[in-house]
Amino acid sequence: MSTTKITNVILYEPNSSLHLQSVELLIDNDIISNIGNSLADSSDWTVDGDGAYVSSGWIDMHVHCYKNGNPWGMDADTIGCDTGVVCICDAGTTGYREVSKFFNSAKKSKTIIKAFLNIANDGLRYPHELSSPENIDQAATIEQIQHLSDFIVGIKVRASGSVMGEDTVTPFIKARCIADKTNKPIMVHFGNNPPDIKDILRQLKQGDILTHCFHGKPNGIIENQRIKEIVLQKRKEDVLFDVGHGNESFSYQKAKEAFELGFKADTISSDLHQISYPFPVPSLANVMSKMLEIGYSLSEIITSVTKTPAQILFLTEEFGEIKKHSKANLTLFKVNNRSITVSDSSRIPVVLSRQITPIGCLIHGECIKAKPVQTKETV
Ligand SMILES: [Zn+2]
Repeated sequence: MSTTKITNVILYEPNSSLHLQSVELLIDNDIISNIGNSLADSSDWTVDGDGAYVSSGWIDMHVHCYKNGNPWGMDADTIGCDTGVVCICDAGTTGYREVSKFFNSAKKSKTIIKAFLNIANDGLRYPHELSSPENIDQAATIEQIQHLSDFIVGIKVRASGSVMGEDTVTPFIKARCIADKTNKPIMVHFGNNPPDIKDILRQLKQGDILTHCFHGKPNGIIENQRIKEIVLQKRKEDVLFDVGHGNESFSYQKAKEAFELGFKADTISSDLHQISYPFPVPSLANVMSKMLEIGYSLSEIITSVTKTPAQILFLTEEFGEIKKHSKANLTLFKVNNRSITVSDSSRIPVVLSRQITPIGCLIHGECIKAKPVQTKETV
């Protein structure tokens, strides 16, 4: 058994009486055994946190990290633990045919990997994945979800005309059936219509997720300077709205407009994949910094990458809160005041006055130092 002591960190845990206080943490193997000050030193290792914040481990709930010749997949640790992210959720790169291979390869990464299973049999291996009814095998998909129930946290549907072809209704009916039979949420990608956002949202219920909620295309969440009624109604029903930045799906202006209308995303995610990385999206922290600039509080931002995704994806045993006896899945980060220019998906420059910068993370108690992303951060 090895014990690690982390010193000189500021606890970022709104549920704790020690929130925003300088603390020490004792980690026994992969469990937090104590949090406080001047803890008795029985540790094998001491890590000096250098005044960084420590939060529950960050979860990026929309990435693409299945490689094996897939045109989308990134190296998991490059977009995960190397940038302070403890858990990444692949959003539908694989369907039932390849998910076992994905599960086996995922074990080799330090970063904890989960998957939304694409309802299309081959996931994103080929374009237009939902254009033919034969591309969805409900029974086989349900069987794989039941078989890999810890690994698969939900199902994924890409709802756009270019993916679905003419029939934009049947894939949803099948998705709803798969989700209800397996008790998993549906994550829906949306963009240009058809299908219309109203028709998509009507299919979603409590715990389902609409990703790319601030895309800058027509068919968005805002109409005539107001948040659409169906969006507000679905929020009341606990449908979740996720950022999913990506290469084409995040308009800083739209996100800001929504914020000014009182509408904030529930979860912040990067949609990192071969095309969006490293530009315009170098990391989850970059997306979090954009939301900070828009006006989200640091507390809202940290909650949106820790507690909220942990609850939606039924991962609260491992994530979501730092407390005694919880798993040592943690992220260390700082907030710097250096001004830089970054880009949104429309390639419109965004000046950030502050940046959320990962310092490192702990995964199952193992300390991993963050690496700077090799990208031009300016446009
Ligand atoms: Zn995606």
